[in-house]
Amino acid sequence: MATINKNYNKLQGGYLFGEIAKRTKDFIKKNPGVEIMRLGVGDTTEPLSPTVIKGLTAGVKKLANVKTYTGYQDAEGKEGNPRLRSAFLDFYKTRGINLEAQEIFINDGAKSDLANIQSIFGSDNVVAVADPVYPVYVDSTVIAGRTGKFTDGKYEGLVYMECNEKNGFVPSPPKQKVDIIYLCNPNNPTGSAATKKQLEAFVEYALKNKAVIIFDAAYVEYISDKSLPKSIYEIKGAKKCAIEINSFSKWLGFTGVRLGWTVVPMDLVIEKTARGEVNKLWNRRQGTMWNGASNIAQEGAIAALSRQGQKESRKMIAYYMNNAKIIKKNLLKLGLRVFGGKNAPYIWIKSPNNLSSWEFFDKLLGEARVIGTPGSGFGLHGEGYLRLSSFGHTEDIERAVKSIRENLKL
Ligand code: PLP
Repeated sequence: MATINKNYNKLQGGYLFGEIAKRTKDFIKKNPGVEIMRLGVGDTTEPLSPTVIKGLTAGVKKLANVKTYTGYQDAEGKEGNPRLRSAFLDFYKTRGINLEAQEIFINDGAKSDLANIQSIFGSDNVVAVADPVYPVYVDSTVIAGRTGKFTDGKYEGLVYMECNEKNGFVPSPPKQKVDIIYLCNPNNPTGSAATKKQLEAFVEYALKNKAVIIFDAAYVEYISDKSLPKSIYEIKGAKKCAIEINSFSKWLGFTGVRLGWTVVPMDLVIEKTARGEVNKLWNRRQGTMWNGASNIAQEGAIAALSRQGQKESRKMIAYYMNNAKIIKKNLLKLGLRVFGGKNAPYIWIKSPNNLSSWEFFDKLLGEARVIGTPGSGFGLHGEGYLRLSSFGHTEDIERAVKSIRENLKL
């Protein structure tokens, strides 16, 4: 008799966005014809840049010609287009980081690799996550069977690194010994970004405890403070203990195109593995369970990494960060306690009058007709906060902010 993976029964997920949809639907039913403004979702809205479009179009055209047609990337394994991997080497070099081509694995966006990377680790590994944080790390740890039951807002066996106002929403390394640490930097949902010193503490911890850092860098291009690291490999020793997973989703607007990359350094050693063995393990996993990223998307990515492509992508980021500025400035004017929005596209708001996250959600929807995302959906320590996203057309953001200023009763 087939049985199900019982770990799925432990999951709490699915609740957050389902509940938001339900409450929004109820509101619309009670208030027909009223305009709802959505600042809850972290999805890009602006068109791709001309250089990326050119690259994607060239990719499509190659498929129309027998001489340039390509199918599976068998010759090179599943790691990705060699020209794209080489473009990444140049890209990292501009940040003072030297990588080898085989250390770069092209992915189809960060999410799958962030979850799938768990398959190369032993099932008894203890995992640490920031709290609050992007829920994928927690749920994939639960599905992999590395936690116990969910009680009092926490999974047994999972180590939570608290993010709060006091530590500027940047966690410290765990007090106890763990084996895998997920770091989301800049953090979704708090919008905080770690300093070099803060990341050094994690690398030092990982080297000392023989732990591995899974560094989710999906929002690094939003970092405006020049002193803040944009890659974990800017930290000395990180190649020995960190895997970096990144994506073009938020950087280029590839949420629908689907492309990113994962770096598994040759120097990364787990337990008694030899140099390069972990890299090989990931290669084996991908070769077995995956058939590579879209060749069209990879052509778009090559174009994006050109000088002109990068120039255009900076414009797109500036557009969203201008939205963030508009939101933050106006909320501060209302006297709300507001965080993030400087090095990340998320604004993290303390609920007024000690309201819970869901109470603030209802108030914002009921009074200003604006939808946010309750912070409690990202972890126990997200309770009492709400996340607003700066992804959207500026005119829509301005309308939402105006409505908050005029209608929110504080
Ligand atoms: N990491 C973080 C922190 C995110 O917020 C997201 C998406 O919202 C992702 C990774 C996944 O992005 P994608 O799979 O589109 O690359």
